[in-house]
Amino acid sequence: MTDTASRPGAAECPQCGAPDPLPIHYGYPEPQHIRAALRGEIALGGVVSQPDPPTFECRLHDCGYTFSV
Ligand SMILES: [Zn+2]
Repeated sequence: MTDTASRPGAAECPQCGAPDPLPIHYGYPEPQHIRAALRGEIALGGVVSQPDPPTFECRLHDCGYTFSV
């Protein structure tokens, strides 16, 4: 378990343990980001001012936990 942290999809939700969390796209979403979000491939984080926003969002709607890896 040395080189998995940088690979998207390698993590799991620390809240519920669901695998394959969605990478969060920050900033104003372009059309391709919106399409990807509708396909369930990414999450849209919008414009944030936090210095270190979370990088992943749990793909389970009931959970929705956001976290960094
Ligand atoms: Zn979760």
